[in-house]
Amino acid sequence: MPVLNALTIDVEDWYHVCGLPGEPVVSPDTERVVPAVGRLLALLARRGCRATFFLLGSVAQRHPGLAPSIAEAGHEIASHGWSHRLVTGLSPEEFRTELRRTGDLLERQTGRRPVGFRAPQWSLCRRRTPWAFPILRDEGYRYDSSLSPLPFVGDRRGPRGPFRIDTPAGPLVEVPPLVTRTPLGNLPTGGGWGFRFFPLGLIGASVAGLNRRGMPAVLYVHPREVDPEGPRLALPPLRSFVAYGPRSDAAPRLDALLERFSFTTLDQLVDRWDTV
Ligand SMILES: [Zn+2]
Repeated sequence: MPVLNALTIDVEDWYHVCGLPGEPVVSPDTERVVPAVGRLLALLARRGCRATFFLLGSVAQRHPGLAPSIAEAGHEIASHGWSHRLVTGLSPEEFRTELRRTGDLLERQTGRRPVGFRAPQWSLCRRRTPWAFPILRDEGYRYDSSLSPLPFVGDRRGPRGPFRIDTPAGPLVEVPPLVTRTPLGNLPTGGGWGFRFFPLGLIGASVAGLNRRGMPAVLYVHPREVDPEGPRLALPPLRSFVAYGPRSDAAPRLDALLERFSFTTLDQLVDRWDTV
């Protein structure tokens, strides 16, 4: 039986670029998240594939039909926090408030409370935000997908497959995103600029390599990455490269990987892994 992988979508708009000091002021008529999610839903439906959508609470509030339309298509609704502020910039109380506000809203909109969380820009950290893990568990979350084994934004020596984190409030399953191991360090091939930049053959080989060891690969994509005509914030060159360039349309690559490998939602993947 093939190993199941997980496709995850961080549902935010074109201007929710990681690490900005606050949410930029944009005109509501430039918002693109709904049609871009629609394109992803159509692609997934064509391939008969289910995915996990991490929604920002602020986006779900602005577009109240969005979470229900994703859930009705059979996908998992999970939480990306409320404001897109980095967890490292929040107090424990602010983090709990963001989680609860997003969980309450998504439950009201879809009838189910999310059990999965992903922090903006991999900003959960066992060293810098150890208090966040028991809060997640306490607020009803079963798994987290925010610890990336990457230099600079994560723990470059961190595990590449799922692992358990024991907290005073109970265990959490941590599911890291796909990276590619090289002698120079891990490459961010699982999503974002790396997914659009590195050769598709390398990404496919990385998924296959993990699957051969019985481990799932977790891919991630943002709606703006399948919206090549969308507006762009004026950013310094490195930030602009990470957010928008290169190869502005990730959809053909995603489609090729959905055809080649088997994918499911993160909650299903955690269910299977938890019983091993
Ligand atoms: Zn994000």
